[in-house]
Amino acid sequence: MNNLNGVVCVLTRKNGSEFLWVKRRMEHNFMGGYYAFVGGGIENDENLTIAMARELFEELGILVSTSGIVQWTNLDDREKIKKERNFIQFLDSLELEVDHAAFRPITDWRSGDQYNQKAYVRVFELSVDEELLDRPKKFIDEEATFAEWSTFEKGIELLDSGKAVASALVRTLLIHFSKSIRSFEQSQVLEELSTYKLHKGIFSLPMKSQTLPPSTTTNCVIIADDDNKKFLVVDPGGTDQHEQERLLRFIGELTTDGLEFIGVLLTHHHNDHHGALPLLLKTLNCPVYGHPKLSQRTEYKINPISNIVFGGLRTLETPGHSDDHLAFYIERTKTIVAGDMVASKGSILIAPDHGHVGDYLESLERLIKLNAQSAIPSHGSILVQPSKYFGDYISHRKKRHADIYALIHEKGHGTAIDLVPQIYAELLPDLYPLAALSVESHLLWMLEVGDISFKDDVFFVS
Ligand SMILES: [Zn+2]
Repeated sequence: MNNLNGVVCVLTRKNGSEFLWVKRRMEHNFMGGYYAFVGGGIENDENLTIAMARELFEELGILVSTSGIVQWTNLDDREKIKKERNFIQFLDSLELEVDHAAFRPITDWRSGDQYNQKAYVRVFELSVDEELLDRPKKFIDEEATFAEWSTFEKGIELLDSGKAVASALVRTLLIHFSKSIRSFEQSQVLEELSTYKLHKGIFSLPMKSQTLPPSTTTNCVIIADDDNKKFLVVDPGGTDQHEQERLLRFIGELTTDGLEFIGVLLTHHHNDHHGALPLLLKTLNCPVYGHPKLSQRTEYKINPISNIVFGGLRTLETPGHSDDHLAFYIERTKTIVAGDMVASKGSILIAPDHGHVGDYLESLERLIKLNAQSAIPSHGSILVQPSKYFGDYISHRKKRHADIYALIHEKGHGTAIDLVPQIYAELLPDLYPLAALSVESHLLWMLEVGDISFKDDVFFVS
């Protein structure tokens, strides 16, 4: 992607000591529940500052014109503009023009692989009067649940504590602005920030891996302990040599900062979770920890998790996707390192070899009870307050189960692959064999609880 497709505005007040951010609605596929600056997409060939002015008007009711910056209180006008996209006509009717010069360009940002969508945005700063948007809550609508003014330091604190999740762009700008509002030079372009700091001592590094579509990367997670003295690397799954070297460099940086690297944790045995492990072992000769079953299923010497001394990390047995699956819970920030329990897009494959649908549902139920603030799945973007998301996965899985149950009872008998075209009506035939694995897991669970029988490679209703 080469063209800018969005605009973002850091609204500041009180001489640049405070900024405004919003919490995006959970339903958004892109950064749902994230704290963000105000912004949005560029319409057609819209000029960038016009797009920025339109977004501010739509979302917050702020009108930036050559006659000044004012708060617009007529909600009908904003509604009309949203629907009819005639922002310029609206300004014309008032004989106003956008004040292009009010927007200070700060940087361009190209998002990395951490999100469900790619974005390439121009970031502006706009300084406003103190009294403007003093009570911004009532101007927020379908984009965000609330907006608030904060100092940059408080913003960073909120992210570190786990109470808020934001993109790498937001964290980076908060850190720059906390030093000086002018510290970011216009010429700087923030290219893909590959190592993403989520909360204090928690980093995610998406690495290209041989995984299942729609994913192309595996999130390697780096966790420091509560005292910030030592750290672990979870699922170094990347196969790309440059990215593997980048991971090594990052481990080196933390070590230089005085932290001790104590080993690698694996969530389960699948290949897309340990592609970079051979290089780590060769270079750093570190211990590997995981479920005892991994000893037979991988080429590595696996140490028991109970041997790790590490403040604030809880291991959760979460069989289902695989019977050797573990998730990890970081207590200080209420963050789940979720492995393949969920993905931020697409669904999780339960294959019959080591998977189990019933166990999977139970494991998800247990994750819900943690009431976590955030979860890092192995594939895709970070999830905010993920319990509802886990619940949606359970409903989706139960519906699929009910569909397969109904179909096999309607047909009387069948194999997994027979049922696929009706269960997955939208699926490309190329993917039928993969879907059949999932259907078979559901049939095996029905067999286990006595709903159906199995003879001569065929499932049937007895
Ligand atoms: Zn897996």
